[in-house]
Amino acid sequence: MGEEFKKRFKALDQILTDLNHRKIEKAVNWVNDNIPKLKIFDSELPFLIHKVTFCYMLKKAHDVGEGELQSEILSNLTQYASKHLIEFYSKFKAQIMSLMGSLAFVNELENTKYVELISDIHWDHLTQCFVRDFCKIQGLSKESGLFMTLKVGTLGIPKFQKFFKLMKGKEQLFDNLGELPIDINLGSEFKFHSIFICPISKEIATKDNPPIMLKCGHCITRQSYNSILTGRNERAGRKAKCPTCPTEIKDSDGITLNIF
Ligand SMILES: [Zn+2]
Repeated sequence: MGEEFKKRFKALDQILTDLNHRKIEKAVNWVNDNIPKLKIFDSELPFLIHKVTFCYMLKKAHDVGEGELQSEILSNLTQYASKHLIEFYSKFKAQIMSLMGSLAFVNELENTKYVELISDIHWDHLTQCFVRDFCKIQGLSKESGLFMTLKVGTLGIPKFQKFFKLMKGKEQLFDNLGELPIDINLGSEFKFHSIFICPISKEIATKDNPPIMLKCGHCITRQSYNSILTGRNERAGRKAKCPTCPTEIKDSDGITLNIF
């Protein structure tokens, strides 16, 4: 394991220790530093970090009881919400409305549905999400490799069954392929990094040579895309066949995938 890698995990350890002691500053800084990477997989961490900060301040206002100090905390809370929560309103409307609604009942939270906002559940949830997304950014799973392999295999079983039922009697066609002839989409939980290897050139896609999705859904890198279309009849509109399936592709069909 490289030194840089160790350093990152030491930082994670420090952040988790802090979260355990209900200190959120380091976690907020880490999230702010990693916003572009978190956005790639639509992480909820940027919202969660502000939600938990809000709940922490709400608990403080609740615990100090009615008075000047409480009014001050509540005023800070309103300012905090308008500064940090508004950008998440369309995606987390219900949760934000609940947070704002709780302010009206700050002295009687125990008798309302808002009591859950001052429980530890949110800190636990934040910690879990933090570990998961931190590992994801490092290209790792938060679970052990063996467990993930088993999980992926188990989730794939229904598709395998369906596929082999359809291909009954033709199994020998795939004996020498060395890979599955079908794609199985397991959802974003199982995507750990945005590496794409071109099935034609076997090269890893880069920013300058990004993956292009063909109309059939298969992907190849731009260089491969250009090279299979080069030399085709220009007047008839350049056409070629997808390297994976029989779909005909034209040079206007490809969609560049922005995974970087
Ligand atoms: Zn195809």
